Amino acid sequence: TSFGFATVAQGEKQALVDDVFHKVASRYDLMNDLMSGGMHRLWKDAMVSTLAPPRSAVRPWIVLDVAGGTGDIATRIVERSGGTAKAVVLDINGSMLAVGRDRAAKAGHADAIRFTQGNAETLPFPDRSFDAYTIAFGIRNVPDIPRALREAHRVLKRGGRFLCLEFSEVDVPMLDRVYDAFSFNAIPAIGQAVTGDGEPYRYLVESIRKFPNQARFAEMIREAGFERVTWRNYSGGIAALHSGWKL
Ligand code: SAM
Repeated sequence: TSFGFATVAQGEKQALVDDVFHKVASRYDLMNDLMSGGMHRLWKDAMVSTLAPPRSAVRPWIVLDVAGGTGDIATRIVERSGGTAKAVVLDINGSMLAVGRDRAAKAGHADAIRFTQGNAETLPFPDRSFDAYTIAFGIRNVPDIPRALREAHRVLKRGGRFLCLEFSEVDVPMLDRVYDAFSFNAIPAIGQAVTGDGEPYRYLVESIRKFPNQARFAEMIREAGFERVTWRNYSGGIAALHSGWKL
């Protein structure tokens, strides 16, 4: 392809991703709204509805939200559970976590949400620790995706659920072209305007292109040991939610 970042090596990939999110942390949510036209909120709400965290405190229920950034998913889960659920937000990037920690404290969720720095490829938790594992717009950034999926499987309890929200393959004629034009032109332009540097956003758009489509990604999830793997498209496949169970 024509992008300099396209041939970047595995090790450098993480460094590039880290750089993007350090720079954008304080304006991350604004960027999300601008780049998705606010749609990321609807997709995230739909993800959390699918998860349906329990509303009663019969026993402790805990979710691990990987690549959880500023705590968007964890906050929704805790609020939707009526304060019953607990969440651990894991992210490799301290700047994103700092924004999330501040926000959780202000929203009164300091006890319900814990923020931990770590890598999706080597989760710092014992086997069978969590009732659910969520990852939203994060797995695409991880250099070794099969390894991250195996880790997800390892830390889930039996009966635990895996949910992954990610950009995917648009399956609506015409929308695919509009979307391509938007992502290749508008996204780097918005990045340039808000952060002063459009190049990292070219890299992010490129990473969406390279990410496996719905069916192939479902296969990767199965290969990591998950069962009953399904997916659902949002907005014509701009995003997709994959689900799997550790049985
Ligand atoms: N889940 C949040 C959301 O939907 O708003 C944040 C998504 S943001 C697009 C991607 C996040 O993945 C960033 O916060 C980044 O630091 C994190 N990330 C990238 N590589 C990672 C890795 N190897 N392990 C854990 N987190 C990682």
